[in-house]
Parts: sequence; structure tokens; C-alpha cells
Amino acid sequence: MDKYLLELYIFLLGTLVGSFLNVCIYRIPRKKSIVLPRSTCPHCNNRIKPWDNIPILSYILLGGKCRFCKQPISLRYPIVEFLTGFLFWLTLHTFGFTSMAFSYLVFLSALIAIAFIDIEHQIIPDVISLPGIGVGLLLAWLTLPLSVLQSLIGALVGGGVIYLVSFISLAVLGKEGMGGGDIKLMAMIGTFLGWKNTLLTIFLGSVTGSLIGVSLILFKKKKRDDYIPFGPFLVLGAIVSLFLGNRIINWYFRIGDLTILHQILAFPKLSLPILLSVFFPQ
Ligand SMILES: [Zn+2]
Repeated sequence: MDKYLLELYIFLLGTLVGSFLNVCIYRIPRKKSIVLPRSTCPHCNNRIKPWDNIPILSYILLGGKCRFCKQPISLRYPIVEFLTGFLFWLTLHTFGFTSMAFSYLVFLSALIAIAFIDIEHQIIPDVISLPGIGVGLLLAWLTLPLSVLQSLIGALVGGGVIYLVSFISLAVLGKEGMGGGDIKLMAMIGTFLGWKNTLLTIFLGSVTGSLIGVSLILFKKKKRDDYIPFGPFLVLGAIVSLFLGNRIINWYFRIGDLTILHQILAFPKLSLPILLSVFFPQ
């Protein structure tokens, strides 16, 4: 098959998965079944016709409004569909048609659902993150470029660092910067990425989270005490780490140029922004 046609198919397949993730994002926090019944409009309860359920395209054709009641459809629907399509394409483009790539598609789908549920409901549902830890360990055994032990260490490092940060935050500031959901999310991420890319994920998540949090406060979009979910930033960090992590880590430590001692000494530099984010939690 023509290479570009194949890549287009992968993108379209991703948008279909994205459409299913939208169902999960809407239903999981509401404790509804993700299989049945068929989707309805949340405003008028009319059943959505199959031809109004085509990823991205239907949103455009309907002008972002329900066919029946003309209430606006959340922009989240086409965004999730496009994002999933793009990440599916990027994964197979980067890792090829391998079982490893398939594992990462599972990982990315879970991350997308978690990020958007956290944005809308400020929770990270255990029904995704906890099984995700088990799936990560299983896939490490089967396909990932990690041993099960490395995967387990990744989970302990990921969950452990966030636990420590929220513990310090509670002790110093009297409030939790990050919650239990973030701990389980990072444990899940750790099983897929291993400990190095897990630390990178937390680093990237803390930096972007702090920057965006501070700018939202500066531009008066949020108040100092408002809650800003941290999960989406960890998800962003995990996605960047998955695709670019090894390159970033090699560049940062210039492995080969540095002795082991230098590498160890360089680590506080990596942890500094994480500590800063404790004192300026979002
Ligand atoms: Zn409607």
C-alpha cells in the first residue's frame, strides 16, 4: 500500500479511537457505562445519528451545534479526535508497525482520556490509572523496551516523587499541590516509560504547569487559591518524554562526555524545578 495512504488510514483510525475516548471522557466521571446506550445530546437527549458522529467532519458540517436543539457541541470533541489521530500517526511514524508501537497507542489513549477528564472534573479516575499500572507492567513484559523490574522501578519513582512533593507541600504550605490521583497517574506513566523518562515527565510537567499557572494568575484568569489540575501537564510531559525523552536526556547529560559523578551531580539541577513547583504550586 502507498505509504502516505497508510499514514492517512492510521490518522483516521486514531480519530475513531478519539471519538470513543470522548465517550469515556463524558461518561467515566459520571459513572456511566462506556458501551451502552448509544450517544445522545446532553441538552435535548436526542440520539445522535451515525452520520452526525463522524470524527471532526460532523462537528464542522453541523457548525458545532446539535442538529435538533442547536445547542453548542463542546469543542473538546473535535480537539480530542484530532489529537488522537495525530498521536496515532506520530506513534506509527516513530516506532513503525511494531507491537511496541501498539502498546504506546494504548498508553496514549489512556493519557488523553485522563487529561481531559482532569480538565473538566478535576479528578483522575482510578478506573483508568490503576488498571493502567497493571497493563504497563504486562506490556513491559511483552513488548516495551523495558524489563518488568525497570517498569516497576519507574512506577515507584513516579508515584514516589509525587507522593513526596505533595507530602512536603502539605507540611510547608498546609495544602496539597497535587493529589492522590496524580500519584497513581505517575505510577502508571512510570511503568510505560521507566524511571529516567518518568523523572523527565515530572520535570517537564512541573515547569509547564508552573509557567501556565503563574501566567493565569498574572493575567487574572485564576486566583492564587484556585485549583488548576496538574494531570494535564504530567500527561503533556509524558507524551514529550515518550517521543523525545531519550534525545533530551542524552543531550542534557551528554552521556559519554560526563563521568558518572558528573551525571549524579547534574541530577539536582533536574530536581530543582520540581522543588520550586512545591513552593509555587501552580
Ligand atoms: Zn441537542
